[in-house]
Amino acid sequence: MKKKTVVITGGAGFIGSHLCGRLLKEGFKVICMDNFITSGSGNINGLLKDKNFVFVKHNVTKYIKVGGKVDFVLHLASLASPEDYLRYPIQTLKVGSLGTHNALGLAKEKKAVFLLASTSEVYGDPHVHPQPETYWGHVNCVGVRGCYDESKRFAEALAFAYHRVHGIEIRIARIFNTYGPRMRLNDGRVVPNFINQALHNKPLTVYGKGLQTRSFCYIDDLVEGLFRLMKSKANEPVNLGNPGEFTIKELADLVVKLTGIKGTVIYKPLPQDDPRQRQPDITRAKKILKWQPKVKLADGLQKTIDWFKVSA
Ligand code: UDP
Repeated sequence: MKKKTVVITGGAGFIGSHLCGRLLKEGFKVICMDNFITSGSGNINGLLKDKNFVFVKHNVTKYIKVGGKVDFVLHLASLASPEDYLRYPIQTLKVGSLGTHNALGLAKEKKAVFLLASTSEVYGDPHVHPQPETYWGHVNCVGVRGCYDESKRFAEALAFAYHRVHGIEIRIARIFNTYGPRMRLNDGRVVPNFINQALHNKPLTVYGKGLQTRSFCYIDDLVEGLFRLMKSKANEPVNLGNPGEFTIKELADLVVKLTGIKGTVIYKPLPQDDPRQRQPDITRAKKILKWQPKVKLADGLQKTIDWFKVSA
């Protein structure tokens, strides 16, 4: 049987590269696009020798041209770390708007299924806890995180418009905090920051009082969820994340314990509009995808620490 073809934008990034590897294992032909704005070839070098893997260096805010049949378009291209999107707010807005438009255009042209990597940030600083997909969110569109939150909200709206007007099949993954090997050590997010600091015997920088919460999903669990969502028939947003909720101070203490350092923490100002709490309600994913995360935070962190020790 002829292999199905997947185009994956942002395929060289942290989540994208893990998903590329999984898709190749599942027998897909993978066309990976990236402009390396926050990644490099490091994550995909190991895949380049696979004859079913093609890399195209391309900025998807420009027209996307792909020859031949395409069965799935997975749109993962985006800045994702708050530090990155604060540094590149215009690129963040462009990839979420123009990039999503181009990726949807490709899916329409090829009659392919379109999957959007959306985010828990569509809920902003939520007033409903935990967050179900039916919650509309609480977002400051002119705040510093607005560039990311609104670009993803726009991307979801555009995907729905293409679904309603052109009848294309859409899948929307609202991805909650995800961590694991291949995150950039200096990407500014809390897990790589804490591990990097611990491995260099530096104090861990806790923002605010560290009482804000996040729910951390290990990369392998997330990839499983994305793969199931892609193959499902769900034309509706689906939360993908681990419901285990921790304060940032608890996370710092766990990293200290697992790295075995004589750890200290220092407190720094809380960034503007930093959500106070975040936890996915994954009832829908459990029901539709028969999916739920398996990896406990301590186990996933240990694997991530081990990887950073040798690779970073
Ligand atoms: N954070 C922290 N120290 C750091 C980096 C982040 O205390 O060195 C906090 C940040 O303020 C936020 C949480 O950790 O409350 C998660 O931040 P991250 O940048 O990983 O992602 P977010 O969930 O905010 O998008």
